[in-house]
Amino acid sequence: MKQNSFRMIVLGTDTDAGKSTFSLLWLAHFGSTWGYWKPFQTGSPDSEKIRQALPEVKVYPAIQHFAEAVAPALAAQNVGQTIPSVQAVVASQPQVSEPYLIETFGGPFSPLNHSELQIELVRALEYPSILVSSSAVGAIGRVVGQVKAMRSEGFSPRAIVLIGPHDPYAEREITKHLGIKVFSLPQPTLWSSSEYRSLAKSSAVTLDSLHDYLFAESSFEQRSPNDLIPRDQKVVWHPYTSLRDAQPPLEVVSSHQEFLQLADGRKVIDAFSSWWTILHGHCYPPLMQTLREVSMNLDHVVFAGATHRYAVEVAERLLKQTRWPKQGRAFFSDNGSTAIEVALKLAYLCWSRRGEKQRSLFIGFENGYHGDTFGAMSISRDPIYFGEIEPMLLRAIQIPLCPNRLDETLKTKGSEVAGVVIEPLVQGAGGMQMHTPQTLQEIQNICRSHGVFFIADEIMTAFRTGEFWAHQAAVDVNPDLICLSKTLTGGVLPLAVTLASPEIVQYFDTPDRSKSFFHGHSFTGNPLACALAARNLELVDRGDWKKEVRRIQSVWNQFLPELQSHPAVREVRSLGTILAVEVHASGGYLAEVGPRFRTLALERGVFLRPLGNVLYAMPPLQTSQQSLEKIIYAIQGCLQTLE
Ligand SMILES: *Cc1c(COP(=O)(O)O)cnc(C)c1O
Repeated sequence: MKQNSFRMIVLGTDTDAGKSTFSLLWLAHFGSTWGYWKPFQTGSPDSEKIRQALPEVKVYPAIQHFAEAVAPALAAQNVGQTIPSVQAVVASQPQVSEPYLIETFGGPFSPLNHSELQIELVRALEYPSILVSSSAVGAIGRVVGQVKAMRSEGFSPRAIVLIGPHDPYAEREITKHLGIKVFSLPQPTLWSSSEYRSLAKSSAVTLDSLHDYLFAESSFEQRSPNDLIPRDQKVVWHPYTSLRDAQPPLEVVSSHQEFLQLADGRKVIDAFSSWWTILHGHCYPPLMQTLREVSMNLDHVVFAGATHRYAVEVAERLLKQTRWPKQGRAFFSDNGSTAIEVALKLAYLCWSRRGEKQRSLFIGFENGYHGDTFGAMSISRDPIYFGEIEPMLLRAIQIPLCPNRLDETLKTKGSEVAGVVIEPLVQGAGGMQMHTPQTLQEIQNICRSHGVFFIADEIMTAFRTGEFWAHQAAVDVNPDLICLSKTLTGGVLPLAVTLASPEIVQYFDTPDRSKSFFHGHSFTGNPLACALAARNLELVDRGDWKKEVRRIQSVWNQFLPELQSHPAVREVRSLGTILAVEVHASGGYLAEVGPRFRTLALERGVFLRPLGNVLYAMPPLQTSQQSLEKIIYAIQGCLQTLE
């Protein structure tokens, strides 16, 4: 177990809840090993009380102390000072390996400074916390109310401590309503060192069991990686991973901004946004807040014959980004692959209803990737991923991504073709291969001239290139069907949508019920996922994300010449938040360098998952400057081994 996990935050339901009493009892019992830190103090300092009562306890100096016995933020203001930000307080924690408890002031929602509440500091510190309350009349209401308020802020104490006469009814009720364990400690009658010591002695069993509860049973570290990984390897089948993979999976215990916190204490940069899903950053507060709020009242509800405001809002916001905001339609599904299936079915059904049932052929492009369901596999037909399953695939052909080749193909096979599917500007899984907006424009124009549907797979490209849709970089590209998934909910929950133009919709807009679109999944239009998508699209509408794309791109641009000139590098490709470095190596997707690069990058604190000989990064929008540079440094480290 890590030493610094032995830190604990003491919160109180209010000012006189008994925080100092708890600290004194805890330290009287554990004081030879535990220290004490109260970052902000007003009036007669608690640190001094601890020092006098328990001289053996190591007391760390407060960040600020004010003589006036009012809230720290007010006391500071009255003497013309300010309380530092959450970030600054986090940075000034005593850097010691010994355990210590951190005592807060007032209640969790007391103001910390002019803009932040204390709860934000508590959340940022990420240590186990206990909530102390007096056991006097009203304890149940005080504790339940306070914890529910804290939970709506994404935070929950690990245990409750009631101070005062033992009240088994209150203990039971609190646990019943909150699912949190309650511990009871007595209230000293005298303020004296010997009184605290003797009460701590008589409460030793309770104090020890609280200690074990916080730091043993309930802690993640207890399940060491040595235990979980072998269990995982016996029962779990991971995607796109050999069952004999030499590299064990990373055990992730929490995620935050661009980081994954691993069980063994390492914190690594998620440089590929968890398979391109995470848009802003992990546990992005506005999205997590939405998830908490909506999940209080709504779980999953059927989407056939029922609806909810979140789905409607997502459909409206997405259609607003197309040329047919009023006549188009949004069809929901659960993942990128099914969004593609929906597009293929809709395209074919249109032809069938026009009396051209022979048009069951789709055209995809070499290096394309559209998902792992049958229709999706058929249009990309990657020989490594899907070669063995070839006999089961649908009718589709792959051609080089070149307007002339498309034109030739449509001239010969045009009467059989239903549509053409493309990843606009960047073919992701095919190795971050890029083409220009002009090429995309010409491809659309050729589809139009042959009268076949033009289907944009924006599942990876939406937002990543700096435009809402990557295809908006071209002057006049207006797909008939647009598929979106990965970042739609900001990456928090799975959701996908297929947007259909009025030309498609008209074939289904009939009183004949046999002409409905017979497609749907159990979880279609899941309200929680839709609420997240609605919130995400609202955030996206404000436009600040474009600045973040430009910021990331400018860091990539700085390093392009250097990466490009490296002798091991075949080509560097970059667009928006995407940076791809293709090295000279044989083996394509299965290239030996891939797993080796993964290990080398991890040693530098960066989690990469190379696509064979293509090392790439596509970090979340909020990735810090320092992390972007670390990603570059990790890529350079990989290249050095090829010199
Ligand atoms: C990931 C991806 C898909 C498939 O989405 P899933 O949610 O993984 O099924 C389809 N198309 C593109 C371009 C993708 O990147």
